[in-house]
Amino acid sequence: MSTPALPDRSWQADALCRGNHSHLFFPPSTVERKEERERRELKAKAICSVCPVKEPCLDYALMIREPYGIWGGLTEAERRQHLARQPSSF
Ligand code: SF4
Repeated sequence: MSTPALPDRSWQADALCRGNHSHLFFPPSTVERKEERERRELKAKAICSVCPVKEPCLDYALMIREPYGIWGGLTEAERRQHLARQPSSF
């Protein structure tokens, strides 16, 4: 029996969200009001929009069913909607 291949994460070296911006991509551990979340998500998505690895980032998040944060310009809810529209692979 062969071991499944691990997903490629080499693209992460070029991620614009590394370092100082990472707090924008995940909710804080404290309560976040709707307006605060929307402002944070807009800022994160603006970074994603010019990120050179947006496509592999989103592919990765969809493949591993990442449940948290903004990946590839989509929130967790938007990724769930995207996956729900895909034909079932089963
Ligand atoms: S697309 Fe967005 S979440 Fe993905 S690596 Fe780039 S900046 Fe980070």
